[in-house]
Amino acid sequence: MNAPETITTGHDPITEAMMKVLEAQRADYLAEGHVSVEVRIDRMRRGMNSVAKYQDKLVDALSTDFTCRPRQLSMLTDVSASISPFKSAIKQVKTWMKPEKRKTMFPLGLLGGRSRIEYQPLGVVGIISPWNFPANLTFGPLADVLAAGNRAMIKPSEFTPSVSDVMAEIVADAWDEKEVAIFTGGPEAGAAFSALPFDHMLFTGATSVARHIMAAAAKNLVPVTLELGGKSPVIISRSADVKTAVSRFMMGKTMNAGQICLAPDYLLVPEEKADEIIAEIKTAVAAMYPTMLENPEYTSMVNERHFQRLQDNLTDAAEKGGDVISTAPAGEDFSQQQGTYKIAPTIINNTTDDMRVLQEEIFGPLLPIKTYKDFDETIQYVNANPRPLALYYFGSDAQEERNVLDRTTSGGVCLNDVIMHIMQEDLPFGGVGPAGTGSYHGYDGFKNFSHAKSIYKQAKIDVAGLGGMRPPYGPNTEKTIKMQTKI
Ligand code: NAD
Repeated sequence: MNAPETITTGHDPITEAMMKVLEAQRADYLAEGHVSVEVRIDRMRRGMNSVAKYQDKLVDALSTDFTCRPRQLSMLTDVSASISPFKSAIKQVKTWMKPEKRKTMFPLGLLGGRSRIEYQPLGVVGIISPWNFPANLTFGPLADVLAAGNRAMIKPSEFTPSVSDVMAEIVADAWDEKEVAIFTGGPEAGAAFSALPFDHMLFTGATSVARHIMAAAAKNLVPVTLELGGKSPVIISRSADVKTAVSRFMMGKTMNAGQICLAPDYLLVPEEKADEIIAEIKTAVAAMYPTMLENPEYTSMVNERHFQRLQDNLTDAAEKGGDVISTAPAGEDFSQQQGTYKIAPTIINNTTDDMRVLQEEIFGPLLPIKTYKDFDETIQYVNANPRPLALYYFGSDAQEERNVLDRTTSGGVCLNDVIMHIMQEDLPFGGVGPAGTGSYHGYDGFKNFSHAKSIYKQAKIDVAGLGGMRPPYGPNTEKTIKMQTKI
């Protein structure tokens, strides 16, 4: 446990309030001792029930904060995706908690020595969440944090204030403040929060902000899990069925209007297929969204700032010679919107590497295309850029697929689809390099938020004496040295 007095920020009122809760949670955690499976399940069940109870309010709040977000999407990605991690952890936590036998070195095992790992809670875990799936990215990790027997403090995004209010109700309904507490506020509250001497901190957000988080955590040596973003490529092989590939990646690109950490960020396509793929994208979008501006099934940008950021990126691409191709339905004028910030899915062809759309994470419905002649160029391009959170390969060429898997590094990979790997609760979810540190979900999440305590129980026999380890050294010492240095 980190000593509370190691806090390094000034004691402003926000920090004071957070510290009080942290100290109360820590004291209660220490007084509790072993956190039984029943207690863990009860805490998770209360959370799950509370999310279910407030689901309609949550959906309404998501719609308010995004100005337009389909109910069905919110139900799938925020309500059900918050309930299922609890459900799955409740079912499995008893098995996860079992001590793990490990090998004991020769000859100690023969003499009766025994090694094992016990997974122990870390204590109080801080969770900082983003706005794009605000409930899912708060309650999802919370399920793992509680399964591991911890207490939690949460700091949601200021960009989705209505959702934060509902999440505060959900939290207050489900838990005592000593179990789970939530603090709202913007970057100032975030800065104070990230400087707290937690036992672990999980941050989900932008790579740029993660640098501040890690620096703040470093002052108290708080271990961090960083779930970040990046530019996730979609590689289309010559062997791919274009229609199937496009319909799959465009579902992922248009979901939440591209405001997904795992959204397909850019395409790498065979040069002779670019026109066919562009035509197919238009067809796929029109099939999903015959209308957009008044269509409640097409999500808006979360706010004007992000709307403007994407418009600026389009201007930048056009100025640098890009071919900007909108898929907006005929007759819809996106410059005339009533209370929403929608942007139609927009392809950018003839791209150059100096364009912002090829440098920054897009996080919206813009889709730049890069073409290749030789397949190897795709791997070279991915490797010449920061390691992505996800990588997508569409094709049926086993050798190519193997090459992509072996020669590129990304947080995860989805073959012949996009995003779906995150739905596999039994696969760890996390990034690598600038896309993140550590991972969670399911058993891997339980382990991430637990301390794997190594325990060795010595044999009854005097091992040190037998092995000549206790001075004065003699022939038994030499025998042990000989045995242990034998190669
Ligand atoms: P963000 O980094 O701007 O904000 C995330 C959280 O950090 C918010 O709660 C915010 O209030 C807080 N914050 C902001 N500045 C802070 C500071 N200086 N100190 C402490 N806290 C601070 O991210 P965002 O705009 O909310 O989300 C978008 C980003 O998140 C994208 O890059 C996306 O790829 C990434 N993301 C990653 C995942 C993942 O699981 N890997 C999931 C969703 C989003």
